[in-house]
Amino acid sequence: MDKLTKEQRHRCMSAIKGKNTKPEMMVRKFLFSRGFRYRLNHPRLPGHPDLVLRKYRTAIFVNGCFWHGHENCKYFRLPKTNTDFWSNKIERNKDRDKKEQCQLAAMGWHCITVWECQLKPKVREQTLESLAYTLNHIFLQDRKIRTYEMVEADDSLSVAEEPEDYSIE
Ligand SMILES: [Zn+2]
Repeated sequence: MDKLTKEQRHRCMSAIKGKNTKPEMMVRKFLFSRGFRYRLNHPRLPGHPDLVLRKYRTAIFVNGCFWHGHENCKYFRLPKTNTDFWSNKIERNKDRDKKEQCQLAAMGWHCITVWECQLKPKVREQTLESLAYTLNHIFLQDRKIRTYEMVEADDSLSVAEEPEDYSIE
């Protein structure tokens, strides 16, 4: 077993998984500079996503490769000591991530995971550009579907207003 007390471990985990970690700040700065607006750590959504873009109905998770067990990633290596402990711990984290993302999807949210390794200097720009692209794509797709549904549901000629207030529950 690991040598930390339960409390120490908790503190350690929250320091590492904590708010304002560097990779998360990169994503935030980039999105903000491109005019995307978001909310942080939404308390009422499963998993408290790092960033929530309501207009895009999208939750973004910025995940550390180690804590979230990024598969086939060179930054994810189990420690040589207490291997079972870490392996269990990370499997649990992965299961939880999966469950939370399923819940979000069932609530109609898009989930995007940005991995820490995708924000390393060499690949950062490409990752962030593709994130912006994905968000715009999601936005357009959602519009298309919504318009289609409205035409189907109501064949009067009045132009319905787009519902702006997606409630979170
Ligand atoms: Zn990784």
